Amino acid sequence: MKGQIIIAGAGPVGTFVAFCLAEQGIDVLVLESAEHCETDMRASTFHPPTLSYLEQLGLAKPLINQGLKAPVFQYRIRSSKEVLDFNLGELKDTLEFPFRLQCEQYKFARMLAEKLEEHPHAEILFNHEVLIVSQDDAGASVEVNTPDGIRTYKGMYLIGADGANSIVRRQLGIDFSGFTYKEKFLTLSTEEKIENYFNDLSYVNYVSDPKDWFVLLKAPSAWRILVPIENDIKDSDIVSDKNINKVFQRVLGESKKVETIHRTIYRVHQRVVDKMMHQRILLIGDAAHLNNPLGGLGMNSGLHDAWNLSQKLGLIINHGHNKGLLGQFDRQRRAVMNDFIQRQTIRNKKMIEESGETSFESQWDEMRVIHANKAKRRAYMLEQSMTSSIERERDIV
Ligand SMILES: Cc1cc2nc3c(=O)[nH]c(=O)nc-3n(C[C@H](O)[C@H](O)[C@H](O)COP(=O)(O)OP(=O)(O)OC[C@H]3O[C@@H](n4cnc5c(N)ncnc54)[C@H](O)[C@@H]3O)c2cc1C
Repeated sequence: MKGQIIIAGAGPVGTFVAFCLAEQGIDVLVLESAEHCETDMRASTFHPPTLSYLEQLGLAKPLINQGLKAPVFQYRIRSSKEVLDFNLGELKDTLEFPFRLQCEQYKFARMLAEKLEEHPHAEILFNHEVLIVSQDDAGASVEVNTPDGIRTYKGMYLIGADGANSIVRRQLGIDFSGFTYKEKFLTLSTEEKIENYFNDLSYVNYVSDPKDWFVLLKAPSAWRILVPIENDIKDSDIVSDKNINKVFQRVLGESKKVETIHRTIYRVHQRVVDKMMHQRILLIGDAAHLNNPLGGLGMNSGLHDAWNLSQKLGLIINHGHNKGLLGQFDRQRRAVMNDFIQRQTIRNKKMIEESGETSFESQWDEMRVIHANKAKRRAYMLEQSMTSSIERERDIV
């Protein structure tokens, strides 16, 4: 299995890094504990720079065909109904794709898993759970629970893309510093026509309120509603019909029984590993960093890790470049995560609620100033669309 790279996890990040490597002629083996790519309703937003990466591999159009183009994102105040529109169309001189693409993350992972199944340089094995990882100077090994018993696989490198509870990260015994929000986040998916309850609703809406904030996102299959829930409420009570009816009453402003397709509770963290590169073992995606979902940056950051890492592994394996390039991957991606993504998502959450540090009104006054000024509005959209973070990454040696 000379030259092979092992990837733990077939989520959006694991399947993407595998495809990026396989397209460069590098043999990859993807090991996934589940029996298929789960119908995961977490991420639904793909940002413009991510679409530009996908375009280089011929993946942008097939994904765009499955999604909804959202050039406009909105901030709203729940009580006054004030709306600030941010239109990425204003950046069409800079962005190849001047819109966010709204598409469920599982559609992306499944599309890539199907491509990997047919790829001459890829193998993807479901029902294969990575249990133990180890490494030496020549490569990395994994012990895996398979339908035929425990097996060992060896490769030149191991990429841990096995999500928030990553076994690869835990086996490395490294720090995952940061914090966990005290409230839980509830997401609901519904086929109800939420646009009928608001004026000029876009596909991406952040509705601010000192206490009762919520997010409304349109995905092709459903509207998705995200609300915070106090920590001391039991999970079974959170997803009960009684509580769900209350949430819809709060969001829609009228009492109505609304059918839901999914009801999911999440604990939300802000964390980044102290190192993404550990000799022959590399961590990417949620295995390496976590942030709140306000802004839709988590999966996109993982896809940017995957792109950066796969380009450097391509140079090392195919063109004999120095392994020191992996240190640059580590420096670039951790700087982006710490300086941009963590800061930005924490700020996005403060903006939508009463943060205790700045008053709700003064936060909104700041946003009104940004919105009213063309240069400030443009800079803000470049940041929210992750364009600035990619530029920053390129500057780090
Ligand atoms: C409510 C919510 C909304 C979100 N919305 C957005 C959004 O709009 N945009 C955005 O960019 N991000 C969003 N995110 C974040 C996004 O969902 C994650 O960042 C993304 O799923 C990370 O992808 P991943 O592939 O790294 O990990 P995962 O998606 O968690 O995939 C990990 C994979 O590894 C497998 N695995 C785990 N352990 C093992 C093992 N031991 N062996 C083998 N396989 C294993 C799992 O089964 C899984 O398939 C949101 C998150 C939440 C909670």
